[in-house]
Amino acid sequence: MSMMTGKEYRESLRKLKPEVYFMGEKITDVVEEPMFAPHINTAAMTYELAHDPLHQEVTTATSHLTGNKINRFTHIHQSIDDLVKKIRMMRVLGQKTGTCFQRCVGYDALNALYAITYDMDAKLGTEYHERFKKFLTYIQENDLMSAGAMTDARGDRSLRPHQQANPDLYLHISERTDKGIVVNGAKAHITGAINSHEIIALPTRALGEEDRDFAVALAVPVDEPGIKLVFARQTNDMRRLDGTLDTGNPKYGSIGGEALIIFKDVFVPWERVFMAGEYQFAAPLVELFAGHHRSNYGGCKVGAADVVAGSSHWLADAHGIANASHIIDKLTEIVAMAETCWACSLACAYEGHKTPSGAYNINPLLANVTKLNITRMVYEWMRVAQDIAGGKIITLPSEEDLKHPEMGDLIAGFFAGKANVDVHQILKMLRLVENMSVGAGLPEAMHGAGSPAAQKIMIARRGAFDKKRELAETITGIRRDEAFERIVGTTEEDYLRSQQEKIKAEEVRICRRIIK
Ligand code: SF4
Ligand code: FE
Repeated sequence: MSMMTGKEYRESLRKLKPEVYFMGEKITDVVEEPMFAPHINTAAMTYELAHDPLHQEVTTATSHLTGNKINRFTHIHQSIDDLVKKIRMMRVLGQKTGTCFQRCVGYDALNALYAITYDMDAKLGTEYHERFKKFLTYIQENDLMSAGAMTDARGDRSLRPHQQANPDLYLHISERTDKGIVVNGAKAHITGAINSHEIIALPTRALGEEDRDFAVALAVPVDEPGIKLVFARQTNDMRRLDGTLDTGNPKYGSIGGEALIIFKDVFVPWERVFMAGEYQFAAPLVELFAGHHRSNYGGCKVGAADVVAGSSHWLADAHGIANASHIIDKLTEIVAMAETCWACSLACAYEGHKTPSGAYNINPLLANVTKLNITRMVYEWMRVAQDIAGGKIITLPSEEDLKHPEMGDLIAGFFAGKANVDVHQILKMLRLVENMSVGAGLPEAMHGAGSPAAQKIMIARRGAFDKKRELAETITGIRRDEAFERIVGTTEEDYLRSQQEKIKAEEVRICRRIIK
């Protein structure tokens, strides 16, 4: 099968029958549900751009398994160039949608599993890698969207998985048969879950031997019996039902459309199981996946920052202040912060490396630094966007008021800017800034791909403080500085002694001259 278009992706979802709940109701048709429509449209863009000649260089790739042209979201990175193109693709998608396009989580799960199943087999003699490659070929050939499902419910955070009063707080193996495994538990806050074809579940944390049953990685179709999806609420989500400009971004919505995925006695055949008890590899898998996903944020969020910078400039212009020095200064701030994050993500890719599996990984330290910067800078550039937009973004009347036969024109007149600008366009742009800078996108920038504390743990672990101590020790002479000794042709001690003697002699000479 060839790569799907955006429309074909939407149609492909109609063939699935996932068990989805929202606002206390069972949703029978995911595609027709207006609350889900913006998320589906956004994910569809990941399909559509693969057919756009302008973007195909970054949105498509050649499968190393089949040699076929595939959507990049199903590709395993074969080079630094692939890592760079991934980030470029994410910026373009952020620019086109202004929100989270969801498909990266499954993409990162595929890449993490590819490398870790190889490592597991090499160390433990298991046979996961070939099994995973068959699954990957199926995903690539059918151009499927996978929801990467990592975060467990976790209950009491001070307890390990096997110590929890309710074992379902972490996804776990309840039963093993010769045909496969049965799992129970849940994955929480999972981006794009209701509109994915497949769910790829991974462990959420480092695990010990007693947590063996929690060390499970697998893939299940989204409509597998026993999978129940509960769609989350978002700030201002009911505005979506209006379908008006009040929504801010009625076509693409805001953030990824997260869901709780409950696994109730779900049977998974062995050919879809990629870890079943190998607890030693839970931590490397988590770290690899998290690194890939954290490196993305200087791509997708910066694409969205381009949109918010554009709307801020547009609004300033519409109100006649585009050339005011404080506006230029603020717009410059947004661009500088966004490009700093962009540079971080690019650096993750350019400093990447080949893993034993042949797949390429980003630089993990830089990936965590990238995401940590995002947890701060998105708030900062959205703060500046709010500043430029002014108080209007939180006090606008609804579109319904503007349509009122008697009041509409009267109200609109008071929200006008320059005489030649349509006031409805001004309101649209203000609502877009509201959607992006006041909505759920902010905490998503904080907690998506892991909270700041998780990044700091990784940064501390990879901060190479021993090496940095050595640097300080070498400069202070606590440690021998061989390069310096070669420069001066003697030991550091002798050099400094002779320097002091010279200085003393010089002091004596100067003193004598003064006394004379
Ligand atoms: Fe992709 Fe960014 Fe959304 Fe994560 S937050 S799924 S990287 S668009
Ligand atoms: Fe995210």
